[in-house]
Amino acid sequence: MNLNTPVDKLKGVGEKTAALLRKLHIESYEDLIMHFPVEYTIYTEPIPVSQVKSGCVCTVRGCVSGVSGPVKAGRYSILTVFLKEGLFSLELIFFNQPYIKKIIRTGGFYTFRGRIIQKGTKFVMQSPKMFKDDEYRDLLKHPVPKYGLTAGLSSKTVSKAVRAALIDAQWDADCFPEEWLERYDLVSHSKAMNLIHCPDNMDDVNIARRRLAFEEFFYFIMLLRKNKSLSLSLPNSFKMIETADTSRFIDAIPFKLTAGQKKTFTQIVSDMTGPACMNRLVQGDVGSGKTLVALLALLMTAANGYQGALMAPTEVLAVQHYKTVKEYIEKYGLIFKPVLLTGSMKASEKKEVYEKIKSGEANLIIGTHALIQDKVVFKNLALVVTDEQHRFGVRQREALAGKGAQPHILVMSATPIPRTLAIILYGDLQLSAIHELPGGRLPIKNCVVGTSYRPSAYKFFKDQIAQGRQVYVICPKVESDEEDDSELENVSDYAEKLKDALPGIRIESLNGKMKAQDKTDIMNRFAAGDTDILVSTTVIEVGINVPNATVMMVENSERFGLAQLHQLRGRVGRGAYQSYCIFVTSKEDDKTMDRLKILNDSNDGFKIASEDLRLRGPGELFGIRQSGEFAFRIADIYTDAELLEETSKLVDELMADDPALSKKDHLLLRDSIEKYVEKSETLRSI
Ligand code: ADP
Ligand code: MG
Repeated sequence: MNLNTPVDKLKGVGEKTAALLRKLHIESYEDLIMHFPVEYTIYTEPIPVSQVKSGCVCTVRGCVSGVSGPVKAGRYSILTVFLKEGLFSLELIFFNQPYIKKIIRTGGFYTFRGRIIQKGTKFVMQSPKMFKDDEYRDLLKHPVPKYGLTAGLSSKTVSKAVRAALIDAQWDADCFPEEWLERYDLVSHSKAMNLIHCPDNMDDVNIARRRLAFEEFFYFIMLLRKNKSLSLSLPNSFKMIETADTSRFIDAIPFKLTAGQKKTFTQIVSDMTGPACMNRLVQGDVGSGKTLVALLALLMTAANGYQGALMAPTEVLAVQHYKTVKEYIEKYGLIFKPVLLTGSMKASEKKEVYEKIKSGEANLIIGTHALIQDKVVFKNLALVVTDEQHRFGVRQREALAGKGAQPHILVMSATPIPRTLAIILYGDLQLSAIHELPGGRLPIKNCVVGTSYRPSAYKFFKDQIAQGRQVYVICPKVESDEEDDSELENVSDYAEKLKDALPGIRIESLNGKMKAQDKTDIMNRFAAGDTDILVSTTVIEVGINVPNATVMMVENSERFGLAQLHQLRGRVGRGAYQSYCIFVTSKEDDKTMDRLKILNDSNDGFKIASEDLRLRGPGELFGIRQSGEFAFRIADIYTDAELLEETSKLVDELMADDPALSKKDHLLLRDSIEKYVEKSETLRSI
C-alpha cells in the first residue's frame, strides 16, 4: 500500500483505534510509521525473591505464601500478596485490582515485575505487573518498544498497528545514493524503519537511529541552505541611524550593561545601519539579559519611526514582556507605544489592536504567533524579535515579507550550543554571544538526592513559603498511563500527593496538554503570588521570570538531559533571594549521581552540555531530549554532534559538486528534499 493510505485500512485497526490514533495526529501509514518509540523496555531473566535490591525495577519469580485484603484506604482498594523463599520475603501491593486475588493460588509460582522499595526491613513491590510464563518468555527475546500514547491506547496496540503497516507499506527506492550508505555506514530508509520499531537488540536500535538521525540532519541543513540564500540576497530596506534614545535608556537604568550585552548591541546597530537585512541570533545563557538587548534594538527601531515586533513562544511570556515594557516606559520615558496581541484576546480587542498596528499608532507589537496571522497588517514593520522561540522559517519570513519589505530579524536563544555546532545549526544566521551573567546575583544552591529526601524537601518548601517565596516542582509525565511501571512521576498524581503532604498550601498543576487560556491563567496566578507551589511538566522551561520563586525541585531528574535541567534551574535565582535547586533521582547508582553532580559543580550552560556529552556515549541517551529548541524526532544535537558535523560536510561537498541536484544519482534526493521542505514549512517552523 501507498504510504498515504489512511490507517483504518490496516488489518486490526478499527474505528475506535483509528480515532485514538488521530488524537496523536496519526492519519496515514506514514504518520504511524514515523511515530517512533520513545523508549524500549529490556526485560531481564526473572530473579528469585532472595536477590531483589531496593530501588531497582526487576522481575521476580516466586512462590505465593499468602494474600491479604483487599482493604479500603481512601480512593484505593489495596491487595497485598506475599512471596516467600526460605528466610526471604517480598510484599506485592496492588491498587484497585481486587480481581488479582481470584487468579492467584497460594503455593503457586508466578512472575511479577515492578520497582522494589525498602520499607524498614521489608522489601515491597508497588503496582506490579503480572505475567504468564510463556508471555514473559516472548518479552525476553527483544527490546519492547514503548510509544507516546493517549488515554485508551496501549503500546501493544500501537506496536501491532505499526507492524501491520510496515508489512503492508510500499517503499519508494532509497533516495540516498548507494555510495553514501557505504561511506557513512548507513542502512536503507525502509530497513531503518523496520529496525526502530522491531529491533532484535539495542544494536539494531542504534543502527536505525544512525540512519534516521543522519537523514534528519541532512534535510535540516539543506533547508538552512535555502533560508540562507534567501536571506543573503536581501538588501536593508529599513536603514536606520543611531539615535540618542538608546544611550539615554542605557544611562538611566540602575545597572551597567555586561560586556556581552554591549558587544551584541553594537553588532545589531551595525547590522541595522548597514547595507544588508539583519538576520542575527543572540545566544546567551538563562538570565544573561537578552531581553534588554532586544528592547534596545526595538527602541532604536521605534526612534527611527518604524514598527518592531517581539514574538514570544507562549502567551504567558508575551504578557510578561508587555508588563516589563510598560514599566520601563513609565520609569524611563521611553518612546514605545506598545500593544499586546495574543490568541486568547476577544475578537473586538484584537480588532482594535489590528487597527493600531495598521495605522502605525502602535510602534511595538508584543505577542505570540497570532502576530503573523493573516489579519495583521503592519504599517512599516522593520524588526522582528523572536524570544526563546523556535527558529524563523522561510514560510514565516515570506508571510511577513508579504506584508511589506523584508524586516530585520533577531532571534534570542538560551539553548547552550558549542560554537562549532552553532555555526552549522544556525547556518543562515549571524551569531552573537553573551557569555557572562550580570554581576551581583547569589549563586543557586544545588543538591542531588534520592527519593527518601522528599519529606525534608517538603519541610523546606513550607519554610520558604512561610517566608513568602514560591516553589516549582517538575515531573516528567502529564498523567499516569496503563503502561506505567510506576517509574516516572506524573504531574496530576504528584499534585494530589503534595496536597495531602502539605495541607493549607496553595498548589496548582500545569501541563502542555492544557488549553492555552488555562495555562495562561495558572501561570498568571503563580506569577501574581496566588499559588505557592506549581507542579508542572517542562512546559515552564522556557523564559518565565517569576523572581519570587526560589525553589526548583525536579523529580526523576535522571530522565532529563543536563542542558534541559540547567534550563529548568534558570527559572529560579532571578531575584534578590537565595535560591535552591533540588534534583531528585529514583536511580541512585554512581553513574547517574556523577552525571547529575555536574550540575552541582557548574553553572555554565555550554560547559554542562558538553560534559554531559563526554560522560555519556552516544546511544545511551536514547529517549532523553537535550534540546527543546530543535524539533528533531530522533536526532539530538548533543549526542549526535559528530554525525551533525559529518552531515554538514557532506552537504558542502554535494553543493560544490552538484548544486542543482541534477545528476542521475541525486534525482530522488531532489524530490525528497522538496517534499521535506514543503512539509516542514506547513508542520513546524524550523
Ligand atoms: P534572559 O537572558 O534569560 O532572557 P532576562 O533578560 O530575563 O534574561 O534578564 C534577567 C534579569 O536580569 C532581568 O530582571 C533583567 O532586568 C536583569 N538584567 C539584565 N541585564 C542586566 C545587567 N547588565 N545587570 C544587572 N541586571 C541585568
Ligand atoms: Mg528571556
